[in-house]
Amino acid sequence: MGNKQVEDNKKLKGRLRLNKPYMWLINVLGGVACLFALLHFPSAQVDLRFLLLASLTVIVSSRVSVRIPRANTTITVSDAFIFLTMLLYNPEAAILLAAAEGTCSGLRLSKTPRTVLFNAGAMTCSTFLTTSVLHLILGPQFDLRHQPYSIAIAAICVMGLVQYIANTGLVAVCLSLKSDQPLWPTWSKHYLWSSVTYFAGAAVAGLIASSVGMIGLYAVLLTIPMISILYFTYYKYLEDIRATAAQAEQAERERAEAEHARAEAERERAEQFRYAAFHDALTNLPNRALLTENLKAVIERAKQEADYQFAVLFLDLDRFKNINDSLGHTIGDQLLVTIARRLEHSVRETDTVARLGGDEFAILLNGIKHSEDAIQMTERIQKEISKPFSLSGHEVFTTPSTGIALSVTGYDDPDDILRDADTAMYHAKERGKACYEMFDQSMHARAVNLLRLETDLRRALEREEFFVHYQPIVSLETGTLSGFEALVRWQHPERGFISPAEFVSVAEDTRLIIPLGLWVLRESCRQMCQWQWQSPANSSLILSVNLSGKQLTQPDLVEQIEVILKETHLNPRCLKLEITESVVMENAESAIAMLQGLKALGLQLSIDDFGTGYSSLSYLHRFPVDTLKIDRSFVSQMSMSDENAEIVRTIKTLASNLGMDVVAEGVETLEQLKQLAALQCEYGQGYLFSKPVDAEAATALLAKRPDWNVSAFSPTRESFVPARAVVSHLRSA
Ligand code: C2E
Ligand code: CA
Ligand code: CA
Repeated sequence: MGNKQVEDNKKLKGRLRLNKPYMWLINVLGGVACLFALLHFPSAQVDLRFLLLASLTVIVSSRVSVRIPRANTTITVSDAFIFLTMLLYNPEAAILLAAAEGTCSGLRLSKTPRTVLFNAGAMTCSTFLTTSVLHLILGPQFDLRHQPYSIAIAAICVMGLVQYIANTGLVAVCLSLKSDQPLWPTWSKHYLWSSVTYFAGAAVAGLIASSVGMIGLYAVLLTIPMISILYFTYYKYLEDIRATAAQAEQAERERAEAEHARAEAERERAEQFRYAAFHDALTNLPNRALLTENLKAVIERAKQEADYQFAVLFLDLDRFKNINDSLGHTIGDQLLVTIARRLEHSVRETDTVARLGGDEFAILLNGIKHSEDAIQMTERIQKEISKPFSLSGHEVFTTPSTGIALSVTGYDDPDDILRDADTAMYHAKERGKACYEMFDQSMHARAVNLLRLETDLRRALEREEFFVHYQPIVSLETGTLSGFEALVRWQHPERGFISPAEFVSVAEDTRLIIPLGLWVLRESCRQMCQWQWQSPANSSLILSVNLSGKQLTQPDLVEQIEVILKETHLNPRCLKLEITESVVMENAESAIAMLQGLKALGLQLSIDDFGTGYSSLSYLHRFPVDTLKIDRSFVSQMSMSDENAEIVRTIKTLASNLGMDVVAEGVETLEQLKQLAALQCEYGQGYLFSKPVDAEAATALLAKRPDWNVSAFSPTRESFVPARAVVSHLRSA
């Protein structure tokens, strides 16, 4: 218990101790007043009318009481009778009557003698005080009929006021001591209201006394209905106030309830908002924002607890676009939702499964002992997602490619670990999908390198860093040059020569291949035209130019090529476009339409890298194609395995049957050349004849017209001289 509380308790006890003596003091004073009244009471005045008035006061008036709303108190109309007694008879009679009335009404309030006596005492004391003050104003005779109006009215007011203040004041002091509350608030709370009854009682008593006087028993009886009317009017008035107060209370309650409901709805909405901000609407999974929050927490924890580890898995569905395109977005959405549920079931309560958008999901494995745990979990998830899905009557299959990043790498930023898991996921995709890869720093270096390559590529076209090399295509029948394949080259200002094997795929991913491919086409067509213009012997040369799959999806590709042909004045017959086998086969139907459009320009078409994709024979004969280019991998392995030689033979037969010719790529040895010639392959291309060379070297080659017949190669020569010339040229560049 604090010191202050002890002090307060002491004070309270002190005040409570005062209450009892105070009550006794009032009782004694009341007794003294009664004694005084009895001694001075003019007993001659006691008549039937007095007894009637006295009994009315004691029996009736004290029973008719009014409760004051909210003030927790009752008032009676007995004061009016006491005032009347005072004015019609004498002060002593009023004092004695007050004592009797106080006792009676006290008995109704309490059974405790002390309280009953106190009520009587207070009533007696206050009446004594009132009569004493009236004595000062009116003299010994209180007969108002002999007084001027002003004095009479003043006397009535003083009578009401003194009785009111004295009576309520004495009781309020008692209440204040009992409840340990200050006097003024106690008094105003309980008795401010009751002033009305005192003044009304004084007014009624004054009115009767001054106009009627001592006119007989019936006049006194007359006061009863008057006082009753006054009482009931007042009662009604209080009822109204009570009703209004109740209404106000009800309205206040309703307002509070409405306010509560509004606050509740507001809170509900704010939740909802928070939920929407942190969850994915389709799957209800946490979104990137919530995952980031959780990642921040585990990153902090990993910094504080040495043996705490976590992992992030980055999942991307393989071929999800195909499912969406072929079965529609509704089934696509269903698949994502079902995958979300499977993922949730595959992980522990403490892990977080989030959807990052599209078909990308991320999983935070919160607390792992070892990297093995993350791998095991990934394998379980891969297996779970690879099971068939039954969606609206369709059986759908998909597999995820997953990248894993571990907290042991040391991360500060949630974005960094997500980025690394994403990078690892890309490596998994590259490795052939449906598998997982763990992130390591070399991946990061590669990713950074790739990003730099991308930025540099965007600038390379404007800065004219590209040029074209030409690789001869040789007629194996005659050993003469039949044309060139145009191959793009990039001379980076800082990094030097960059191989197309390195940058073409990046250019395709960023769609930069579209302007780049057109540039190569324009540049090589211009060059070919120039060669043809230089010598009529060159007029039958064919220019082969590679066309990317991305270019093939351009709706205005045919028009663009037409424009270039017109611009450069190249005869369309001299142009052959090479399209990779996998590209044409992936979208066979649309490819057929596009190839027919190109064919209508009068140019030729060839399928590049033939044998590496999955050609459908039913499609192959529908492609308006002139040439199959046998992929280098078969040619280079020809002399080592009969199988590869057999593949080359089969392709050649197939082409012949479909009315196409073949170009064997990657011819490097005389041996290969002999075999290809024996198989009656029409054309060959490879280092044996020439590496790709710049326009200048190609021009020199054209002037020289080399003989590339089998017999022209001496067994000791591994490759043709111009190839060496190119190498030295590149070195000097
Ligand atoms: P590709 O169309 O199959 O081109 C043939 C590739 O084989 C060229 O590589 C060429 O230098 C190489 N090659 C030719 N003979 C031999 C040989 O005897 N042995 C070996 N080992 N390789 C030989 P390059 O120039 O590095 O081009 C690589 C690929 O980049 C091309 O393969 C083609 O797919 C793409 N590419 C090159 N230029 C362009 C272009 O302008 N547009 C498009 N879309 N792709 C291009
Ligand atoms: Ca090619
Ligand atoms: Ca090729």
